[in-house]
Amino acid sequence: MIPLSVQIKASRLLALCLLHVLLLFGCGGEEKHPQNIMLFIGDGMGVAHITAGKIAAGTLHLERFPISGLVTTHSANRLVTESAAATTALATGKKTNNRAISVLPDGTPLKTLFEYARDIGKSIGVVVTSAVTHATPAAFMSHVDNRRKQADIAEQIVNSGVDVLIGGGWVYFVPASSVGSRRKDDKDLLAALESRMPVVLSIDKISAHSNGKKMAALLAPDRLPKAADRDFSLARLTRLAIHVLSKNPNGFVLMVEGSQIDWAAHDKDTSNIISEMLDFDDAIGAALDFAQQQGHTLIVATADHETGGFAVHDGSIQDQQVSATAFTTGGHTASMVPIFAYGPSSADFSGILDNARVGQMLIDCLLKRKKPPS
Ligand code: MG
Ligand code: ZN
Repeated sequence: MIPLSVQIKASRLLALCLLHVLLLFGCGGEEKHPQNIMLFIGDGMGVAHITAGKIAAGTLHLERFPISGLVTTHSANRLVTESAAATTALATGKKTNNRAISVLPDGTPLKTLFEYARDIGKSIGVVVTSAVTHATPAAFMSHVDNRRKQADIAEQIVNSGVDVLIGGGWVYFVPASSVGSRRKDDKDLLAALESRMPVVLSIDKISAHSNGKKMAALLAPDRLPKAADRDFSLARLTRLAIHVLSKNPNGFVLMVEGSQIDWAAHDKDTSNIISEMLDFDDAIGAALDFAQQQGHTLIVATADHETGGFAVHDGSIQDQQVSATAFTTGGHTASMVPIFAYGPSSADFSGILDNARVGQMLIDCLLKRKKPPS
């Protein structure tokens, strides 16, 4: 039998070891907290979407992440979520009802990762291939009870303090009297945005306006063209955003969305799932290149939900071909989605996590708060 004193010593040693592990990997470790956080959201990106992308590409940048896990995505009122509720969880650490944008089911606004970052002097930015007023980016920059209120969301975006805003959707920023406007009032939000930062409406002008610490690029009336039809990549837009945001010595928080993986899956279009997936993956590669060179940067890549009940049924690794796929639905599913992490505090993002916990951990990492016991 082991003497009691030895048992106590052994248990103390174990406790010390556990504490050490927590200090090393928890968000409480002073030297281990990230200066910058980049969150990549593949809208609708489940395991099969990644599988199809990997078969087509051979190797993905996603494979460079040392940490991975799975995320449950249910909303406050539905097992099957959608982008508004799911992104609210990632952006605020709290669950809400489907269609609500960063407000609780009773309408109470929820403080977002971006608002916390802005309040501590970091720069904030979004890069998306949807309209910037669409549900996923909206959850970081606005608070509305229904995602359809894109005109209201546009107004809140202008006043959000966002430093880099890249995507489509200028129709929600121009007054009702302008051709193509989807506003019902005469507010000129493009002018309001221009009073805060340079604004460009075409890709040719984008590089010329990236010399400052802020910029907006609304590159299409609504969504950007599909990756297959676009002559500029999400990776290029991501590099540009990092270039502008990284001028802030206090650091930055950037959200990049592969917005159209979801739409390709709703359309049951395997070819576009693959091209959107690879466009998104290249953008992740650009961020990993920055983080590996610069350090102090946490990158988390995940999805808001799975779309399509998508499965790969046949193909060839040698020929890099996906030849047979199936979809169980034209909508979303409750399947868990993958999560990947790199950099300081990345070890927290492993195992099976709930989406609201992921959001809370991002906020804790930003504010350097200790990980609560799970
Ligand atoms: Mg989206
Ligand atoms: Zn969808």
